[in-house]
Amino acid sequence: GEARVLVIGGGFAGAAAARLLKQVDPGLHVSLIEPRALIHTCPRSNHVITGLAQLDEIAWGFDELREMGVSHIRQAALDVDTPGRRVQLEDGHWLAYDWLILAPGIDFRFDAIDGYDAATAERVPHAWKAGPQSLLLRQQLKAMAPGGTLILSVPDNPYRCPPGPYERASLIAHYLSRHNPRAKLLILDAKASFSKQALFRQGWERLYPGMIEWLGHADDGRVVRLDAVRGELECEFGSRHRGEVINLIPPQRAGDIARRAGLTDASGWVPVEADGFRACLASRVMVIGDACLAAPMPKSAHSAHSQARRAVSALLAELGSDALGTTPLDNVCYSQLSPDSAISIAARYESVAGQLQEQTGSLRLSSLAAPEAEREREAAQALAWYQALGRATWG
Ligand code: FAD
Repeated sequence: GEARVLVIGGGFAGAAAARLLKQVDPGLHVSLIEPRALIHTCPRSNHVITGLAQLDEIAWGFDELREMGVSHIRQAALDVDTPGRRVQLEDGHWLAYDWLILAPGIDFRFDAIDGYDAATAERVPHAWKAGPQSLLLRQQLKAMAPGGTLILSVPDNPYRCPPGPYERASLIAHYLSRHNPRAKLLILDAKASFSKQALFRQGWERLYPGMIEWLGHADDGRVVRLDAVRGELECEFGSRHRGEVINLIPPQRAGDIARRAGLTDASGWVPVEADGFRACLASRVMVIGDACLAAPMPKSAHSAHSQARRAVSALLAELGSDALGTTPLDNVCYSQLSPDSAISIAARYESVAGQLQEQTGSLRLSSLAAPEAEREREAAQALAWYQALGRATWG
């Protein structure tokens, strides 16, 4: 009979893989294991936090995938037995597979910051998975007293969406400049530098002068302790900062099921071979999206989609089909500086002797010298990018 493919995770990576498999080879049995009926995307969730979009504008469902013949199993995967090639569902049942595509995204290292755990995150939002967390942060932002301080704590690399915290800072500053103009935004950053730094800082100086302060690693920006009752963060070398609102983005690792499946290494992420995203630690498993170690590709929705194509092309090749050939690996990340001004970074990647590398000459970064009209054009492109990628993923 035809091969059975199980896909775990219906986010950007998993849903794209399930869809493409069924498109190219309708005879395959493709089941998508994803507990959620609706996905709220992280891209554009910063708009929801700052009141520029509603949650239903970033929601996508699985109707079209089901119509294509993908079976949507609305449960979480509890366990994976890679030697036995089977996956256990929440209800206890085991499903057999010939090939497994694992795309569970991220989970948080709740042990990394003293005083911070899953329960505390219900009061001190990360908003690094979209949905209720986005609404919680939005509510806290709206309720902030005039002239208050909001602290955004950013982890070290690697984490989901390298420029995401700075887009969030930009849109929060935009909100505050309209609704709470004496408020301050303090970014405590575990890193020494960040993605598109010069472009962001130029935008902040122009659009929100004096509102955003960024403390990097050398300024004791790495948060090590949270006192949720006092609303206080303590950093590595002893500085303390209090904020009316704290948005703590914790350090991350691959989604829990990846570790459960025995696929992660000491980093907490999943090592994969660069040509087809096959897991290094098991056979007949591909791991794509934020969960895998694909540096220098950033953990982005665009990367996740392009990795899905590459993994599906490798899987089809295993089944004797060259229908997709070798698909390109690429990324583009737009970031808003304000609702109608955006910047971007883009690159292509290739595997050289089993290692992923940025293709020489492929890097494209918005120009510091670009006129405002160009930033406006990029904001329009960002929205078009989002709609196109969402449709290509969920339909
Ligand atoms: P996800 O999209 O998180 O999907 C994982 C899915 O797996 C989830 O639906 C989850 O329910 C499911 N799952 C997990 N465990 C199990 C299990 N055990 N069983 C079954 N299902 C399971 N990227 C961009 O390219 N452009 C942007 O502008 C952008 N903006 C961002 C802004 C913010 C604020 C953030 C936080 C991220 C942003 N990103 C952006 C990054 C992007 O969201 C991620 O890179 C992308 O979601 C990764 O896709 P994924 O499929 O690996 O993970």
